[in-house]
Amino acid sequence: MSSIIDIRSQLPLNPRWGGATIGYRPETRYITWHYNGPALPEYMAYGEGLMRWARSALDWQTRSGWSGTANGADGFCYNYIVGTDAVYLARDTDAQLWHAGNYEANTYSAAIVFPIGGGQAVPDAMLLNAAYITDVLLAWYNLPRNAVFGHRDWSANTLCPGDVIGTHLAAYKAGEAKPCNGWFRNRYPCTVRTEPSRRGRVVRSYPVGAHLEMAACVDGEVIDNNGQWYWLRSGEGFIHASAGFVRL
Ligand SMILES: [Zn+2]
Repeated sequence: MSSIIDIRSQLPLNPRWGGATIGYRPETRYITWHYNGPALPEYMAYGEGLMRWARSALDWQTRSGWSGTANGADGFCYNYIVGTDAVYLARDTDAQLWHAGNYEANTYSAAIVFPIGGGQAVPDAMLLNAAYITDVLLAWYNLPRNAVFGHRDWSANTLCPGDVIGTHLAAYKAGEAKPCNGWFRNRYPCTVRTEPSRRGRVVRSYPVGAHLEMAACVDGEVIDNNGQWYWLRSGEGFIHASAGFVRL
């Protein structure tokens, strides 16, 4: 179980709002995952470095003219930050925030941000903390795992949270991942996709006999009566079980 550190008092509201805030979500229907955008130094994933990142994001989001606003946002624009050391509560859990550039998401979605960006790998501890707080919020609001979205699912104008976190998000939504650690060889040519379904973008393909390391088996789109997909430890994405894996 992860610990939650309350840093709300260290991320002050925007003084130009005169103490006012956007308010509270009338109802919570979704959880949305975000990232920083550009890659960040590793020390910003925890502790004082994470606080430094949060304060600079706050300065950016509360400046005049941010995202077409006259006075900037009311304060920090994510409810939770997932570090490698803990989950950080940055705004009230029910606070309504301008995080997604989309009316439905801003009105009804809580926001979680990963302090990484670009093609950075998600550290295991950060992913565990993200799954933990997301599970807690889903339970609190009585929502299923498919109520979790990436920012880019709401807006065509952003890549956020990027393909790396996007792949982890797809695995998370596919349900309780069953570990199937080990090296395998595929008996048929196969393609790697960003989601465990044919909706996922093709990342690459492998010829017969590739040596592939699997991290988990997940339930995905059923193809030819088979809904089993494998998640590559490399983070590249998912391969349908029809590739006929043989354990090495
Ligand atoms: Zn975002």
